[in-house]
Formats: sequence, structure tokens, C-alpha cells
Amino acid sequence: MIRLIFYVFLALLIAIAASWIAAHPGEMILNWQGWELRTPFAVIISLFILYTAFLLLFFKFISSFKNINFFKSPARLAQRRKEGLQELNLGWSALTLEDRAAALKHGRRAKNLLANESGPLFLLAKAETPSGRMQYLKQLEKHSDTSAWVKKSRFKALMAENNSSAALLTLHEILKDYPYSRWAQRKIFDLQARLGKWNNARTSLKIAAKSEAITASEDKHFQAVLNYNQAVERHAAADKEQALELALSAVKLDPSFIPAALFAVRSLNASDKTSKAKKILAQSWNAAPHPEMAVLFKETMPTETAEERFRRAVKMTLDNESHIESAHLIADTAMQSQHWREAKAALSALVQKGSATTKTYHLLAQLERQQANDQASAEDYMKKAASAAVNAHWSCKKCGTDQQYYLPHCPSCQNFDTVCWASKSSLLD
Ligand SMILES: [Zn+2]
Repeated sequence: MIRLIFYVFLALLIAIAASWIAAHPGEMILNWQGWELRTPFAVIISLFILYTAFLLLFFKFISSFKNINFFKSPARLAQRRKEGLQELNLGWSALTLEDRAAALKHGRRAKNLLANESGPLFLLAKAETPSGRMQYLKQLEKHSDTSAWVKKSRFKALMAENNSSAALLTLHEILKDYPYSRWAQRKIFDLQARLGKWNNARTSLKIAAKSEAITASEDKHFQAVLNYNQAVERHAAADKEQALELALSAVKLDPSFIPAALFAVRSLNASDKTSKAKKILAQSWNAAPHPEMAVLFKETMPTETAEERFRRAVKMTLDNESHIESAHLIADTAMQSQHWREAKAALSALVQKGSATTKTYHLLAQLERQQANDQASAEDYMKKAASAAVNAHWSCKKCGTDQQYYLPHCPSCQNFDTVCWASKSSLLD
């Protein structure tokens, strides 16, 4: 309504101005190079209005023309997208072939063609070096479809910095989004165990076993490791009964887990539970013979005669008499009871098989001295011992660092359950 009044008022003003100009026609004279143009003032005003109107129309036309923008036409957009996806595929192919430079080149082209999409950023982040990756990770975090991968990368970076607590939080975030991720389930158990959070680790282990993120035998072994570590803690807290119970359940779960067997037999020996100790010894020797177990074997029956001990050793090693630790135990107990022939046979078998170690030659030298006081032969064996294979020992299967004894976490690489009993050659295999 106001606008209408304004237009009526404007028309009235124009009419008044027009009639005034008509009443005062006047004349404009233009002189140029001898040319003379005489025209009424009203014509000049009309021409000026027409020219302004033309200019306005022209600029309007130009601006509407700009809005069409050829780059945004659907056909052009589809073409750019097609080219972008091609670049993306070329980039991933290059990355599979470990040609990172080509992957980065195609990734950057794809990024130009597929602006605001996560695909090219994902490729670039994968192809970049860890330091160059950060800029793309930040951009990728805004895309929900790649956030899981970003979190996994963050987890890896935190682990590399040894920031286990922050890494554990990131794992929980991932597991919230992907509760059935086997990778996350396994890692969360590993990290909780690495941090010594035994009860949390036990819960995570159950979840991982249920979804088959770990095998049934791994589940049993890990349960044994958790029980053993809790047994050690209970023992330190003077709760020996609970400690023994945990150690025994660890042996039951995995008789080949040497630390639990050693712990159980040591505890049983200390409380004179001889028959139970003998049972655990036999069971564990069958699964994984160990020299420290041979020492505990003697301590289980401290009052028996040398002959009785030799007979007991033969009986216990019946199922794996060719194992190097069995042969060493037989030779040792045979020498104590003067069964020279049996001692020699056990040790010679190891030499013939090529599996003799420093300890084998030491025992052979001892045999030569004790049997016939043959110092020359003993010296020969001692020389052979110097160049023989080293005895099996505790060593980290992840970083290869040797350890004095079993530890739940490797002191060098911090990994959980990687310190194992093995010979150098079997580690290299
Ligand atoms: Zn290690």
C-alpha cells in the first residue's frame, strides 16, 4: 500500500517535471569541429533516461549470465566426478604397489576434482608420511564415514609415543562405534593386560573369545597368564592360599605355560604337598620341559636316594625322553647314581642329532671326570662347549631381547606376553 502511494507520488512528480519542461522547452546547442547540434532540452532528458535504463538492463543481463556458470552445469559436474573417481582408483592402485609418490599425485588430483569428499583425503592420509598425514587426519575427522580409521591412526600414534592410557581411551571410542570389531576387542585386552589391569583384561578376554577374535587355545593361554600374574600379586600380598589356587588353575588351563608351573611346584614344595607337586611336575614336564623345573624336581623329594631319583626321572621323562631337557635331566640323575652308560647314551644322542648345547658338553665333561677321571677328554668337551649353541633362555619374541627370567611385559618393547622360553634357533624360525 505504502509502495503504491510511493509510485503514485513518483508518477505525479514525473508528470509535474514533464509539464514544467514542456512549458520551458529551452534549447541546447552543441558545437564540435564546425558541426552544430540544436535540440530541445526535453530530448536530452529523454535520451539520458533511455541510456540509464539501457545500462541497468545490460548489467542485469550480464549478472544473470554469470549465474549460469558453465563449471556448475550437471554434465560438467558428472564429468569431473568421473575423472575424480578415476584418479582415486589410480591412487589406490599405486599405493598397493607401494609407489607412494604416484599415489600422492593422483590423490591431489582427485582432491581437486572431488572437493569436500572424504575419499581423496583418505588416500592422501594413507600415502603420506606420518608427519604429513596430520593435516589430512584433521580434515578427515569432520567426515563421519572415515572417523573410525582416523581413530585407529590416532591409536597407533599414541602407542608409538608409549601413551598407553590415552590409547586405551581411543580404543574404547572405537569399540563404542564398532562393538563387534575383532581388532578392537583383541587390542583392548592386550592393552589392559599391558597396563596390568588384570580384572578388566579378564572381562575383555571373555568378549574377545565369544566373538572369536581369539582362538580357544589362545583364550586358555591368556586366562592362564592372567591367573599367574594375579597369583604373583596375591603372593606378594602374603595371600599364599589364593596365590596357589590361581597358579594351579593357570597350570590346568595351560600346562605348557612354564612360569605358572614353576610357581605352583615351588609353592607346593614349600608347603610339603609332595604328591600334588609330583603330579604338576609330570603334567608340565610333558607339556614344556624346563631346566628350572629339573631343579624343583629334585627339591620335591629331598630325602630320596640317587637311585630313586634316577628312576623317578626316567619315569617322568618317558613321554618326551628325546627332548633336550629330558636328556639333560636323565644324564644328570644317572651320573649321581653312577649309571654311566645311561648318562652317556642320553648325551650322545643329543650330539648325534646336532641339538647339543653348551650344557650338553658341560655334562659330557663332567661325565668324563666322574666316570674315569679322564681330564683330557673332559678338556676336549669343554672346548666344544665354548663353540656350541647357547642353551635355551627367556627371550622376547617381538623385539628379540634376552631376559633373565619370565616377565609379563617385555622391559624393552613393553609388549604383553611376548617373553617366552626358546632357543635362539627356534626364535629365528
Ligand atoms: Zn620385547
